[in-house]
Amino acid sequence: MVKEKIWLSSPHMGGMEQKYVNEAFNTNWVAPLGPNVDGFEEDLCGFTGSRHAAALSSGTGAIHLALIMLGVKPGDEVICQSMTFAASANPIAYVGATPVFVDSEMNTWNMCPNLLRECIIDRIAKGKKPRAIIPVHLYGMPAKMDEIIRVANEFEIPIIEDAAEALGSKIGNKKMGTYGLFGILSFNGNKIITTSGGGALISDSGEYINEARFLATQARDKANHYEHSKIGYNYRMSNICAGIGRGQMEVLNDRISKRRSNFNYYKEALAQIEGIHFLEEPEGFYSNRWLSTIYVDRSADDRYSKKSIYLSLQSENIESRPLWKPMHLQPVFKEAPYYGNGISEDLFRNGLCLPSGSNLTEQDLERVVLNIRSVYL
Ligand SMILES: *Cc1c(COP(=O)(O)O)cnc(C)c1O
Repeated sequence: MVKEKIWLSSPHMGGMEQKYVNEAFNTNWVAPLGPNVDGFEEDLCGFTGSRHAAALSSGTGAIHLALIMLGVKPGDEVICQSMTFAASANPIAYVGATPVFVDSEMNTWNMCPNLLRECIIDRIAKGKKPRAIIPVHLYGMPAKMDEIIRVANEFEIPIIEDAAEALGSKIGNKKMGTYGLFGILSFNGNKIITTSGGGALISDSGEYINEARFLATQARDKANHYEHSKIGYNYRMSNICAGIGRGQMEVLNDRISKRRSNFNYYKEALAQIEGIHFLEEPEGFYSNRWLSTIYVDRSADDRYSKKSIYLSLQSENIESRPLWKPMHLQPVFKEAPYYGNGISEDLFRNGLCLPSGSNLTEQDLERVVLNIRSVYL
């Protein structure tokens, strides 16, 4: 008999989502604007500490709009973390620019500030100063933002912070997404909270966020007829999706606690296994632990690999997933410049994401752990 599926990260409703969605129906705000969109944006500002937020149809769209507002054009270069999901880098291609990929460091698995600096100096020497930097907080772990910002400021290059996986993560008391000129969030179905699909652009600049709302609604100039002096996009979040988002915001802190407790459960339950390592939070760093990840150290025990664990979990209908395949290894980006140290390739070879949903039961977690232990028996 096939065992019940355990998903990597599935949607987890709190209960109040339908109230907001019903309100939208009852008042006929079934449109890409309305009280839920306004309310959701306020919730996002309240939670992250950002002054302004624009709710959009995706996190990818948020990065695209940020690049457009920074005036990034065909022929320009934009620096992006190599170890990430393709959505961080694709918008660079949308504006006709070239991504330049920078590798990670071992403490957070995110953009290495030293390599970033080397990269910028080399790109400038080759004739082009990069127009923006996109660091990512993978799996919820904050990147070393203080150092990244120091480098960015030295060369006066703006930061678009990809916090799609890191809603609620912070360094000290400052939430991720509020470190860059822009922060982007995602509410895709697998993220820590979802609107069934959606994203947001956040910034302390009201001017930029107003411009983002304008561009996201087809760039309509002020006139009774439809007047356009810029190319626009259809990127606004619908009032129905925003209703789901408002309900989800009410349970966000619970979702973070549960994801963190999943991580701690795995860490304790697998502590005896020499070949399995967990990524610790550097001092002052707080991860939402969107996904619990393990690093399978083959120098400790080379009989087992992330693949043997993956296959074993799969045989019991448990979903796991290798860490992101670095962008510089992706066929679509093979021509892009890359500044590396081998760390992201090593992480891709040996890292695995375990089931991490906030809706996992104690029995689910036990099943995962027993299965992994059985690999090492
Ligand atoms: C999910 C994700 C995105 C994109 O968000 P969408 O809302 O799916 O467009 C961007 N960057 C990273 C790192 C992500 O994980």
